[in-house]
Amino acid sequence: MDSLDPATGNLMGEVETTSPDSIRGIIAEARTAQLEWSQLSLRKRSHLLQQFAEILLSRKKIVAELISRENGKPVAESYTSEIIPVLDIVKYYTSRSAKAIKDRRVHNRIPLMKTKKAFVRYEPYGVIGIISPWNYPLLLPLGQIIPALLTGNAVVFKPSEYTPLVGDLIAQFLWEAGIPRKIFNIVQGGGDVGAALLSSKINKMFFTGSTTTGKKISELAAKTLMPLSLELGGKDAMIVLDDADIDSAASGALWGAFMNAGQTCVSVERCFVHDKVYDYFLATLQAKTKTLRTGNGSETGIDIGPIIHKAQFDTIKFQVEDAVRKGARIAAGGDFMDRGGTYFISPTVLLDLPMECSLMNDETFGPILPIIKFTSDEEAVRLANNSRFGLSASVWTADKRRGMAIARRLQTGAVILNDVISYYGNSDGVVGGPKESGTGHVHGREGLLEMVYPKYYEVERARRTKKLWWYRYDAALLSFFEAATDFLFSKSLFKKTKSLFNLVPNFLRIKKI
Ligand code: NAD
Repeated sequence: MDSLDPATGNLMGEVETTSPDSIRGIIAEARTAQLEWSQLSLRKRSHLLQQFAEILLSRKKIVAELISRENGKPVAESYTSEIIPVLDIVKYYTSRSAKAIKDRRVHNRIPLMKTKKAFVRYEPYGVIGIISPWNYPLLLPLGQIIPALLTGNAVVFKPSEYTPLVGDLIAQFLWEAGIPRKIFNIVQGGGDVGAALLSSKINKMFFTGSTTTGKKISELAAKTLMPLSLELGGKDAMIVLDDADIDSAASGALWGAFMNAGQTCVSVERCFVHDKVYDYFLATLQAKTKTLRTGNGSETGIDIGPIIHKAQFDTIKFQVEDAVRKGARIAAGGDFMDRGGTYFISPTVLLDLPMECSLMNDETFGPILPIIKFTSDEEAVRLANNSRFGLSASVWTADKRRGMAIARRLQTGAVILNDVISYYGNSDGVVGGPKESGTGHVHGREGLLEMVYPKYYEVERARRTKKLWWYRYDAALLSFFEAATDFLFSKSLFKKTKSLFNLVPNFLRIKKI
């Protein structure tokens, strides 16, 4: 399988594609190895992952350049949106996991069961599958690989077919750090390899990618009731209120819509601006947009890199042309550069959008920013919620109370006041939205809990005693439990007292087999 530089079209390297037929064998070996891995202490597994972080840190320059060349993003973004958050995820989970998933003591509430001692332990699923996209080839997989390994799972990871070299680099660093090869497995290939992983006997699948593929995966997983975590597409709204700092909001919109060439699940895809500040916001945004430089992200000074491949380029182009055909106007940018093998789009601002066009409803995943005017907070909330996606949203205002009132009404997994996207880098936060944006969560305690399932353990200390609720179901037992029900749950003191007179004699008459 070839890896191409999307900025130049040059061949960067080759990796061997995994045969879908070999996946069952890989999983069987991972399953055996996982038994031993899960018996290691959390401390030992943390130590190995810290070693991985050390290796990543010491080779950060090579990693940053490789990400930039294989994915197209500017090298600065390789640091800010890939390497730094990954290093923090290792730091966060290795220091917090012990507390976050420690055994929970359980207290039996029914008096007859007080002889039991119980606790809940969070157990690893076993073998976890992780399928990732190309847009954040380091951060997205490692945001799941790290907590999965830490909690005692084995992992089978399939990177995107567009970023196989970054995928290989992750594997090399983890193995070098001492993670056994059968505990961290990498399979390379496209959708067929991903589908083979799904049809195998893994214990849970973590999929990050488009909503279209996510739906296909859901159908396949339903056949075996395989647990699924889905991190899918978005159509994030940015709401600029009339009291916002317009210069900062315009810079935020610019970065929120155009970083990684707009190929970010939580990028700004719809910008709603109060009509009182609309003209000023637009003029500021247009002026700032003109200063951005599109080109090869590996070159210093470039703000916006290439589009990853032709299909993505064509989708973005179709959406813009469709919107313009239906009445939208281009206020900045609008250049689509198909150089036969490389694809660039200048940062584009669109106005006067009809609500029924594809650009306003489907994920665009490109450097396109539609601006829509609104006149009241109610209207802004209605417009923002009018989407089948729900990843995140932002509200820009000087009034925190007004912003929070809007935030509470937005149907999204996150709302940020006066910033965009960066919340994804908060290891202690949580990412994952409702609607067609998915079903799972990454980061924070919620992301850790996705990797484990709660298992109940109980020890009966009165081991010789036959339980009252066991056979035989004779008249004495029935009367005893009728009285016991009243004694435990009746709010009437009279009934409680009366039940006591039935409890004792019937208790003495109960016979057990
Ligand atoms: P994609 O759905 O085309 O592919 C994602 C991964 O799934 C790839 O590794 C691909 O090989 C694999 N795949 C494809 N078909 C498959 C199948 N039938 N069975 C199993 N695996 C299969 O998505 P993409 O173009 O790589 O990524 C872009 C999408 O990812 C966007 O929609 C974006 O919003 C989404 N995304 C979401 C998040 C999030 O956290 N919610 C983060 C990043 C990207």
